[in-house]
Amino acid sequence: MTAGMERPMNMIDPFGREISYLRVSVTDRCDFRCTYCMAEDMTFLPKRDLLSLEELDRLCTVFIEKGVKRLRLTGGEPLVRKNIMHLVRELSRHLKSGALEELTFTTNGSQLARFANELADCGVRRINVSLDTLDPDKFKAITRWGDLQRVMTGIDAALAAGIHVKINAVALKGFNDAEIPQMLRWAHGRGMDMTVIETMPMGEIDVDRTDQYLPLSLLRADLEKTFTLADIPYKTGGPARYVEVLETGGRLGFITPMTHNFCESCNRVRITCTGTLFMCLGQEDAADLRSPLRASEANDLLSHAIDEAIGRKPKGHDFVIDRRSKRPAVLRHMSVTGG
Ligand code: SAM
Ligand code: SF4
Repeated sequence: MTAGMERPMNMIDPFGREISYLRVSVTDRCDFRCTYCMAEDMTFLPKRDLLSLEELDRLCTVFIEKGVKRLRLTGGEPLVRKNIMHLVRELSRHLKSGALEELTFTTNGSQLARFANELADCGVRRINVSLDTLDPDKFKAITRWGDLQRVMTGIDAALAAGIHVKINAVALKGFNDAEIPQMLRWAHGRGMDMTVIETMPMGEIDVDRTDQYLPLSLLRADLEKTFTLADIPYKTGGPARYVEVLETGGRLGFITPMTHNFCESCNRVRITCTGTLFMCLGQEDAADLRSPLRASEANDLLSHAIDEAIGRKPKGHDFVIDRRSKRPAVLRHMSVTGG
């Protein structure tokens, strides 16, 4: 713990869940335009509304003082935020002091070749790389702007730097469901775990989500025709439920916000790049932390605003995807609060 830090006053929500995991969206911008995540013609926040890297550091530090043990930087694409490594280097002091157990990223991998060594140097041990297909043309179609080869080079660089990589794939009906076995063999063959995720109804996009949505219960049943999946108690602090794939010896996680309510064990909150705190990914209620952050150099106002917000963390989300409800369950895009 750094000099002058008080002992952690842990954050407990009204349902007795201890908040120990913070996700920070450091930018809403991205160098890809994945069809399920963003419209091609996205309007991003004006740069003047963003918290500076110093403000993000201060905000994260207060959460760490209040009991956050795991910090995940996400976005948008976190590695396209200007000078992001400055923030990572600053935050790594909390790893060194032992106050923070893990500093990690969710990234699309496009910038990894450039940053992998420096990330490892800052104590980043584990990252999630989002990758929905191994086919270059399909990759281009789903990300609109992405280049698969670049991501592959990035993954190689991360592995070479000794970072554990987990591959996250959003399961999309008729797009990558038939490819998941091949992706699984590829990931496990390279020593990477893999997680599949159900699409969530977040933000207006150009395509119909009911066409994309694939319940993972169906995917699992399909995979069981080829693989032996053994439930295991493995936990990473996130909402995935893991199985071991006996044929490959690797782990496969299922994140099922739609078919199985994963809220009862929720230990996390999220902040956006403008300092808005979301207590639940699937609800609109939020707290502005930028005003108390800027109102005083001391952290009392900020700390109080955080406590008040945690005090109204909801029990769970209300996501539904069906043909009757054409509107997304929450209007903000995933890139605002991060995955
Ligand atoms: N750009 C980074 C990336 O793609 O990894 C980090 C941000 S991205 C919003 C985080 C994760 O959310 C990615 O794995 C992405 O596939 C997933 N995602 C985006 N929109 C989603 C949606 N509507 N439903 C489910 N997952 C979504
Ligand atoms: Fe960008 Fe990630 Fe959203 Fe794809 S999923 S558009 S990479 S923020």
